[in-house]
Amino acid sequence: MRRLQIVTFSLLLAAAYANSTTLYQVTLLADEGKISVDACLSADATKLVVGNKRASRYVATSVESNLVQTRSSLHIVNKTNPCFNYTVDLHKARKDRFAYQVGKSWLVNNHSWLWLPDTNQPVHANFRDENGNPVKLSAPWRIKNGGYHLNETPIHWTSRIAFGDIEIVPTNVGESVLNVALLNIQQAQKRRELVNWVGSAGRAVASVYGRYPLTDVQVLVVPIGKRKEAVPWAEVQRNGHPAVHFFIDPNRPIEQFHADWTATHELSHLLHPRIEYQDRWLSEGLASYYQYIVQARAGMLTNQQAWKKFTAGLERGRKKADRPLRSAKQTRHAYWGGAAIYFLADIELRKSSTGQSLNEVLDKFAALHLPSNKLWSAEQYMQTLDEISQTKIFTTLLAKEATGSTFPIRRADEPAFSPSQNTITADILGGN
Ligand SMILES: [Zn+2]
Repeated sequence: MRRLQIVTFSLLLAAAYANSTTLYQVTLLADEGKISVDACLSADATKLVVGNKRASRYVATSVESNLVQTRSSLHIVNKTNPCFNYTVDLHKARKDRFAYQVGKSWLVNNHSWLWLPDTNQPVHANFRDENGNPVKLSAPWRIKNGGYHLNETPIHWTSRIAFGDIEIVPTNVGESVLNVALLNIQQAQKRRELVNWVGSAGRAVASVYGRYPLTDVQVLVVPIGKRKEAVPWAEVQRNGHPAVHFFIDPNRPIEQFHADWTATHELSHLLHPRIEYQDRWLSEGLASYYQYIVQARAGMLTNQQAWKKFTAGLERGRKKADRPLRSAKQTRHAYWGGAAIYFLADIELRKSSTGQSLNEVLDKFAALHLPSNKLWSAEQYMQTLDEISQTKIFTTLLAKEATGSTFPIRRADEPAFSPSQNTITADILGGN
């Protein structure tokens, strides 16, 4: 079975080789905890690299593999034969937390196994199980010509795959689809509840401009055992197509998931492109700004509840504001200082003669620039939002409020912004 498959595969490889696309045949061995890769490089590539220094410890090469290992790369031994194979031991990666096994499912950091040519040539991949059959896989890459397109974003951007005992539920959010992958959640009712939780948070975020910014989004829901809260950890990763990863305590009642802000926060991150980490107040600020507002728009919170939570966030940020926002060291300062900037931008836009809102500006930004495969600086991002809105609101906030020594919104000024006193805030919370 395997042998026959290799003959067919060699023909495919020869075809791929002719047009400089490298085709990876990836075999996922969930029971053994291994990933094996067969491929042939195109003429200009002779070595493979990976975004993680420790990955060389997990990979096995041999004379037959046609690869030799150096400190940080794998080199083709026989250059007249561009084909190679290697196998990665996930149990070794697991010790470094680059792979995680939960029941019979695997969650694997792609920097632990995915060695790629050090050239810009396109790489496509097909995934199979040990018998050569199609495999259930949650991956962040886009499917093109029947295979995953692996290298559209810079190699050091991170991502994960999940396979083994997983369920993948395509979940509609308007016209967009979130591919929710649940790892080792045994109860069918719990799986339905969790999918519904992700879907309702996605629909809340879609209230920003009437659609979720991206489609075919990988969403991972990973149980990590008993914890003090329903969603103790979550993050966005952006290698390939942006993806959202939730790490949960599966034993907690679903009401606690709906009451948590994490899902609307994380899913709001897909409204913006990747922004340089030193200016994370801009990315975290946008997610923090919308996390409660979209809950109010979706009817999950009243306007007054959302406003109370939002201003409590501002106060937490204000307490940690010991320097200008652009050099914020404290997480709460960065998150809530950034949220204050977007709130001020939204107010200014709505007061301006153009009568736009932040929703509309972000809608246009998404249409023009998302998904984005490049890293944005704060200056580029704010300049672009200015161009879209045909104002100077964003660059002015960057130059003044984000660089000034005081927190962007003073506590004494908050009451005047409250939805009971300010129709603009009431409009923001009401979704107008
Ligand atoms: Zn965040």
